[in-house]
Amino acid sequence: MTTKATEALPISVQNVTKTYGPVNALDDVSLEVKSGEFLTLLGPSGSGKTTLLMVLAGFTRPDCGSLKFGDDEVIRKPPHLRDVGMTFQSYALFPHMTVAGNVGYPLRLRKRPKDEIADRVERALETVQLGGYGDRRIDQLSGGQKQRVAVARAIVFEPRILLMDEPLSALDKKLRDQMQIELRHLHEQLGMTTVYVTHDQREALTMSDRIAVVNHGRIMQLSTPRDLYERPANRFVADFIGESTFLPVTRDGKEVRYGEKALRYSGDLPETPDLQLMIRPERVLLSEDGPVEGANNFSATASDVVYQGDSFLLHARLQDGQQIVMRGAVRGNRATSLPAVGDQVTLTMATEDTVLIDGREV
Ligand code: ADP
Ligand code: MG
Repeated sequence: MTTKATEALPISVQNVTKTYGPVNALDDVSLEVKSGEFLTLLGPSGSGKTTLLMVLAGFTRPDCGSLKFGDDEVIRKPPHLRDVGMTFQSYALFPHMTVAGNVGYPLRLRKRPKDEIADRVERALETVQLGGYGDRRIDQLSGGQKQRVAVARAIVFEPRILLMDEPLSALDKKLRDQMQIELRHLHEQLGMTTVYVTHDQREALTMSDRIAVVNHGRIMQLSTPRDLYERPANRFVADFIGESTFLPVTRDGKEVRYGEKALRYSGDLPETPDLQLMIRPERVLLSEDGPVEGANNFSATASDVVYQGDSFLLHARLQDGQQIVMRGAVRGNRATSLPAVGDQVTLTMATEDTVLIDGREV
């Protein structure tokens, strides 16, 4: 499996709703996944990520809506006719079968001949770096190896769409970081359209071409990692991805004020009764020489300073009592001086880092 799988397929989800009693697991979801794209569904537990993946795979039938793979309407097709490989949240390996038995299962389901199965299983195992592990029992494997077996089983029939439901959540951090890079490489190598589920924002930022942020069965924003981080559409997205503090601001036409201070900002102003200034800790700078021309400056009092090795966190109180949190770099220089609690400081934010968002959770 060193060449790309057969041509990838785009996915089109239109107005899909799925209710469980009073719960809207999916609430009128529409989503386009491009051919060959790595798209991540990111959201808190219970937001509907697994339900959407199950709808794509064909294990869950939505109440209404349409689902196309390429030009094909597939909503009525059973899973094994959908050209979709999937890994499940709990791996869902068959414990009584060998590794090869597990990986070969989708091929047996599709009634492929025996020697083709043996051949493809070995190639899939090599792809996930488990060449020669076919005869092992599942309970002889580590968590990371089980996860690779699950991936091998998902890709063994070279599906044009790959779905992965929190594949790394059971692994420890070091292995998780390594597997993120490996899965990304695997995607580059195989080129399948991939929909990946995680609740871990850093994992989503690391792996994805685009991320759909999901909450309460709805897509809050669908964008590139950079756009999501730098231009979140609302407070939910801004809070879920990265850390921020928020300040209430007022608006008069295009002019935005924090208290008396007019702000220079970039980007569009969202239409909202609750406009807020989003402050990412690393986008605020500590100015040693007072206010910086052309930027937004805030005078504040240091209320907490936390040394964290590679950086420090400064909590600062503005004159009106609001708090800002900023992160500063600790460079190779031992003499980097940190502010002390009680110091008067000037915090500055460049115009391009001054972003106003809709403060509602929506
Ligand atoms: P996530 O994967 O984001 O954690 P899920 O898609 O599993 O979320 O669940 C979304 C919502 O739908 C939750 O409120 C969950 O309790 C509910 N739900 C999911 N599957 C079922 C089911 N089979 N029966 C009843 N409720 C369900
Ligand atoms: Mg889930």
